Amino acid sequence: MRDDYEVAVVGGGLLGSAIAWGLGRLGQRVCVLDEGDVTKRASRANFALVWVQSKGLGLPEYTKWTVRASDTWSTFAGDLREQTGLDVSFQRNGGFHLALGDKELEQREVLLKRLHNQPGSADYGMQILDRAQVARMLPHIGPEVSGGSFCPLDGHVNSLRTFRALHTGLAMFGVDYLPEHPVSSIAYAGGEFRLATAKREIRAAKIVLAAGNANERLAPMVGLEAQMGPTRGQIVVTERTQPFLPHPITTVRQTDEGTVMVGDSKEDLLDDAVLNPSITSVMADRAQRMFPLLGRLNVVRTWSGIRVMPKDGFPIYDHSTTCPGAFVACCHSGVTLASNHAYEIAPMVAAGALEAAKVGAFSARRFHGSAVSTSGYY
Ligand SMILES: Cc1cc2nc3c(=O)[nH]c(=O)nc-3n(C[C@H](O)[C@H](O)[C@H](O)COP(=O)(O)OP(=O)(O)OC[C@H]3O[C@@H](n4cnc5c(N)ncnc54)[C@H](O)[C@@H]3O)c2cc1C
Repeated sequence: MRDDYEVAVVGGGLLGSAIAWGLGRLGQRVCVLDEGDVTKRASRANFALVWVQSKGLGLPEYTKWTVRASDTWSTFAGDLREQTGLDVSFQRNGGFHLALGDKELEQREVLLKRLHNQPGSADYGMQILDRAQVARMLPHIGPEVSGGSFCPLDGHVNSLRTFRALHTGLAMFGVDYLPEHPVSSIAYAGGEFRLATAKREIRAAKIVLAAGNANERLAPMVGLEAQMGPTRGQIVVTERTQPFLPHPITTVRQTDEGTVMVGDSKEDLLDDAVLNPSITSVMADRAQRMFPLLGRLNVVRTWSGIRVMPKDGFPIYDHSTTCPGAFVACCHSGVTLASNHAYEIAPMVAAGALEAAKVGAFSARRFHGSAVSTSGYY
């Protein structure tokens, strides 16, 4: 283990791990500075969708970026399996957003039209299906389901196993993962970054800030910015049951292990130590109206997690002009975008600059001057 690196990645959640994995794959000498498993990470609290539909309202480049991630996810899963022997159970079998009643279906159609009519938007095959069409693909829907939207590029994965596979892969690439190394300050001088951590100083030629919502505090230390607006989400998990759900739904999915996850709340309260039963009961009620057989299953777990959320819902990728070699990366949908972080962002970091044609739209400079609007991020 050394104290000087080509790249120091700050944050060992899904973002930092995917970028560090991509850098390790390129043979770079990398460390990941992290708080460790004591910290509560979005990467261990998420719903595990690899999701395309309805992404990008207000920023069509985000739709394209998400489609690109979906397109390379199976290669990513294959590379992880080949390297580590871990199967992350990625399935790109198409996903639904279900409507309960005609009004919800109309609202979904309006959203689809708005997305479709955006100049420069990518076509990703999202379509509205009526109840009969949905029932042919999802035979267990309840009587209140009026239809839904379907996108063939949607899928899901075992995200905890993905996280483990990435960390296993990091070790195999010789990347130093350093838990209990929270970074408190960063200095830049003579083309070198010095990172003060709880244990010791680390030096690196480049740094990637991938510390989730903590990026807001760290980024200004190296001439960057990351305006965050985190939200809380709750998830309910049932006991295992026979396979009944061949496609993931925005709010309900059956995992590769047979449990059923329910979740989609977006709350302003940022305390992830408590649950709000009135919200989980609404989530559970809607899920049961979509699939009445869920009413027979016991709930085995519930939790809440804090989303890493840039203020307008879109990713932030930037590099510093005042401290060349400093990068920032944060986003919601870090499961979906993991393949992009490994195969797109990591090579850009290795090369020393972000490619404007691919990620220029995601610079935090977009926050200057214009009003910030929140996107539909699921
Ligand atoms: C309820 C919920 C549902 C979600 N569902 C989905 C979904 O279905 N699909 C999808 O694509 N995404 C989903 N997400 C989002 C996804 O989980 C996140 O985008 C992703 O996990 C973010 O990863 P991250 O590494 O940026 O952040 P985190 O996982 O929060 O990790 C940040 C890391 O930075 C470290 N850190 C913080 N400060 C410092 C410091 N000063 N020094 C060193 N290290 C530091 C922390 O210790 C932590 O390990 C969901 C999130 C939530 C909460």
